This record gives sequence, C-alpha cells and structure tokens, in this order.
Amino acid sequence: MKESICCEEKCTACMACANACPKGAIDIGINKYGYEKVVIDNGKCVDCGLCAKVCARRMQIERHSPIKCYAGQSRDSEKLKHSASGAAFQMLAEIVLELGGVCYGCAGKMINGEYSAYHVRVTNVDELQSILNSKYILSHIGTTYQQIKEDLKNGKLVLFGGTPCQALGLKSFLNNEYENLIVVDVICHGVTSKTIFNDYLREVEKEQNIVITDYIFRDKKAGWGSNFCYSYYDNGDKNKIKIKRFPKEGASHEIHYLRGDISRENCFSCEMSNTNRVSDFTFGDYWAIEIEHPEFIVRNDPALSIRKGINCMMVNTEKGMQYLSKLQEKMVMYEVDLASITRHNSNLLKPSKRGKARDAVLENYYMEGYKKIEENYNDTVGKKRTVYAAKNMIKTHIPDKLRVQIYRMKFLRKLLSGE
Ligand SMILES: Cc1cc2nc3c(=O)[nH]c(=O)nc-3n(C[C@H](O)[C@H](O)[C@H](O)COP(=O)(O)OP(=O)(O)OC[C@H]3O[C@@H](n4cnc5c(N)ncnc54)[C@H](O)[C@@H]3O)c2cc1C
Ligand code: SF4
Ligand code: SF4
Ligand code: SF4
Repeated sequence: MKESICCEEKCTACMACANACPKGAIDIGINKYGYEKVVIDNGKCVDCGLCAKVCARRMQIERHSPIKCYAGQSRDSEKLKHSASGAAFQMLAEIVLELGGVCYGCAGKMINGEYSAYHVRVTNVDELQSILNSKYILSHIGTTYQQIKEDLKNGKLVLFGGTPCQALGLKSFLNNEYENLIVVDVICHGVTSKTIFNDYLREVEKEQNIVITDYIFRDKKAGWGSNFCYSYYDNGDKNKIKIKRFPKEGASHEIHYLRGDISRENCFSCEMSNTNRVSDFTFGDYWAIEIEHPEFIVRNDPALSIRKGINCMMVNTEKGMQYLSKLQEKMVMYEVDLASITRHNSNLLKPSKRGKARDAVLENYYMEGYKKIEENYNDTVGKKRTVYAAKNMIKTHIPDKLRVQIYRMKFLRKLLSGE
C-alpha cells in the first residue's frame, strides 16, 4: 500500500509516476485550496515501487547549458498572431510535421462551461493551432508520456512542448535517450490550478451577467505583452458573441498569478528555474529587447517587430543545433548572449517569489470562495482598471522605432513599463 510518492508541497503534478504505474492506480485529485495533487487508489496499488523510482523529483536527468542563444520571430505575420511570443514553437512543430513526425503540447478549451488545459497529440498543421499560445494553468498530462514512448519505439520523430517540470517528467519516465525525440520547454513563471481559474471565470460571469465561451491568456490584438481576452454571450444570447480585452491589471486572476499569490506551492521552490535544462530548446519572451538590442528593431534587413512578439531562444543540445538551419528558413533570428536574456527574465535564474499576500488570498478562497478575492481586487487594483487599460493602449500603439527612442530615456521608460 503506497501512501504518497513525494511530498505534496514539492510535487509538480508532472504525472511521470501515473504514466509508469502498471496498475493505473495513480490519478489526479485536488487539495483543499483547489490545486491538483497525486492520488493513489490503494485498492489497485500492488506496492511495486515503480512510481517512486521514476518520480521526476528523484531522478538524475542530464542537464545542458545553452550552446547558442537567439532573438527570433517567425517570418509569417499571420502565424505569429496565434503564438504568445515569436512563434518559435509553432515553426519547429511545422518542421517536425513536414518530416512526418508528431507533436505534443498543451491545448486549452472550454468543455461544458469549464476551461481545461491538457496535453494532446497533433499530427497535422490544422491541429497544431490547438497547442499554440500560453495557458497559465496546469496542463493535465494524462497518458501523454506513454503515447510518446509508443511513438518513439515506432520510429516516429516526436516533438514535446511543455513546462520545464513536464520536460523533466517525460525524461524521467523514459529514462532513456531517444535520437528521435525533441524536447522544448518554456521559461516558466509558474502555473495555477484549473479549479481556481474556473471559479474566477464563474465570478466574472455572475458580476457581468455573461456566459464566457473562450479565454486567451496571451492576446496579441493589442500587441505583445501581458494582455488577455475572453469571448462571451451577452445576457445569455447565443447569437451575440462579444470579446473583452484587458491588460493584466484588468483581471484579479492574472494580477494574483503574476504577483505569486496563486501559483502552485512547488513553483516557489522550482528546481528548473535556471539555465541548466533537460530540454533541447528553451523558448521564452525576449522582454526588454528594445533596451538590449535596439539595433534588431530599427534595422531594415529584416527588422524584428516588437508589436508582433519576439522569442528568446536557447539551443541547449547538439540535437537542437541540427534544426537551426531549418528554423532560420522560417524565422528571422539574430544571435545574442545569454546574459542579455537572463537580465530581464528572472525565472532563468531563480524561482518566482512567493507572494506576500498568498496565505491570505488562499485562506480567503478556502473560507469564502473566489468571491472574496474578486471583492478585494475590485476595492484595490480593479478601481483603476480604466487607467491601466488606457496606459496599455498608449504603450501598445507606439510604433516600434519611437518605442526604442523612448526606452532610451529612463524616466519615460519607467512611466510606460511601471518598472
Ligand atoms: C505557464 C507558463 C509560464 C510562462 N512564463 C514565462 C516567463 O515568466 N517568462 C518568459 O519569458 N516566458 C514565459 N512563458 C513562455 C512564453 O509565454 C511562451 O510560451 C514562449 O515564449 C513560447 O512562445 P512561442 O511563441 O514560441 O510559442 P507558443 O505557441 O506561444 O507556445 C506554445 C508552447 O507552450 C506550451 N504551453 C502552453 N501552455 C502550457 C501549459 N499550461 N503547460 C505546459 N505547456 C504549455 C505548449 O505546449 C507549446 O509547447 C511561459 C509559458 C507558460 C505556458
Ligand atoms: S507502488 Fe506500483 S502499483 Fe502502487 S501506485 Fe506505485 S506504481 Fe502503482
Ligand atoms: S512523478 Fe511528478 S507527479 Fe508524481 S509524485 Fe513525483 S513530482 Fe509528483
Ligand atoms: S515554475 Fe517550475 S514547477 Fe512550476 S510549473 Fe513552472 S517548471 Fe513547473
């Protein structure tokens, strides 16, 4: 009889253990604050010890430091719209599909009024759409690692994209090097839970008298940045779909996520928040490129567009290096040094900080539900929603070349970015 595999506060819910269990005895449940946790069915467990053996928190998986780093952006403006940053993942996925391979990544969808994030297998470019863009809640892995192992054994080229702890989960489960596996992880601030997120959506629906039909965590309509949007039926009228767009300050869930109040507990001691990766590629947002490399924005041969989104790309392995020339055909890429990325992306150096208000926020949620979080937000940040929206509008409509000039003047930069 197995009581637990690793301590709940450190468990990443990567589900390597569940994929390894020969009896299907491990499932996902939720704890009292609504976070996903590993649950063992003792009626099925035969105490074989396999789950503890593959636990991603115990396995020693080889890590790699970046060989080369780039600022990159897809050459295809239309495709760029569907990805959070410069569409590096999308371009690499296209290459893999063109070579007859399969891709795995996180899809996000409203199912029966509930938003879910979960990993899926993709075999063609049409399906690829579903696994693009960031979702800031835990992606449920299901039997993804088992499916990947099957594909690898059948000689398929496989691309996996996920959080660094999921990349570690996959590698721990496989415990073998496969030449036909390419692993991409993202720079990761943390993930919150499906339950908390859906409780937030229900609260917005009640407040606004709407029915939310979809949610996008990184909306690019107002440019590249922390912008969100949801679509909804107004007054329950299914013939009238409307869209609401807002910056991070426009939603209690997003502001608490970015402040470190609602990510999973284990994210604040994340062992993957550094530049030693288990992946072949690490992709993130190239924040502050206007400060580090203004020359890529103002040049004409060709320029990177801030408004459309720019990746920082780290190639961590020789296997990754083999795909560089194919990526360069699809992307504008300029080589940069690692420090120019880490200076503005703290999750490459250390885990996110546990928010000062986290305990109070979670206790309120436990005692009174999401309503209390929403009320507190409405009395504080929410009061200035329109100011934040206006500031965001100005910021995102500034032409790139002017933005570079402004960012050279420190005081204006502070005013715009809220540094
Ligand atoms: C939870 C989360 C936190 C992030 N935090 C940061 C950060 O602090 N700093 C930073 O620079 N970048 C961060 N990123 C990465 C950034 O948002 C982009 O995902 C990254 O730059 C790749 O962008 P892209 O345009 O190449 O591809 P996109 O098309 O935007 O990304 C698709 C990839 O993201 C994966 N993905 C999306 N949501 C999830 C999820 N919930 N769980 C697992 N995988 C997921 C997909 O599987 C796919 O591999 C974060 C991403 C996520 C998912
Ligand atoms: S000990 Fe074996 S049977 Fe029990 S949960 Fe772990 S892997 Fe499954
Ligand atoms: S393998 Fe992953 S999900 Fe399972 S106990 Fe270990 S960290 Fe948690
Ligand atoms: S912060 Fe670390 S533990 Fe949390 S989701 Fe990201 S990689 Fe996983």
